[in-house]
Amino acid sequence: MFCRIAARQTPADVEYEDEAVLAFKDIYPKAPVHLLIIPKRHIESLARLEPGDAELVGRCVLVARELGERAGYAERGYRLSCNCGPEGGQVVYHLHFHFTAGRR
Ligand code: 5GP
Repeated sequence: MFCRIAARQTPADVEYEDEAVLAFKDIYPKAPVHLLIIPKRHIESLARLEPGDAELVGRCVLVARELGERAGYAERGYRLSCNCGPEGGQVVYHLHFHFTAGRR
């Protein structure tokens, strides 16, 4: 499903895009600001990461920093989280990081 968003075949409110990473609004936001940061390349979950993915994951984290600055939350703070697997609460099996802000 997120591959289709990354390919722009399914609409999403995109907040950030580069050649490797996309960030868009979560369709069911759980905080005043709730974005999903994904690598465009399909990786099922955090459990499927390989050592060669280190740069890509680092880029996702740096995009979170960028989004925090853009949204004015750099000082107030925000949360970056990743659900992994059935007991970790993962529902969509395309690696994604939740960026949430605006709520304690
Ligand atoms: P997970 O539980 O897998 O970590 O989180 C999946 C997230 O994706 C959920 O917060 C859910 O609201 C969001 N989501 C599921 N389908 C779509 C969709 O089609 N578009 C967008 N923008 N978000 C989605």
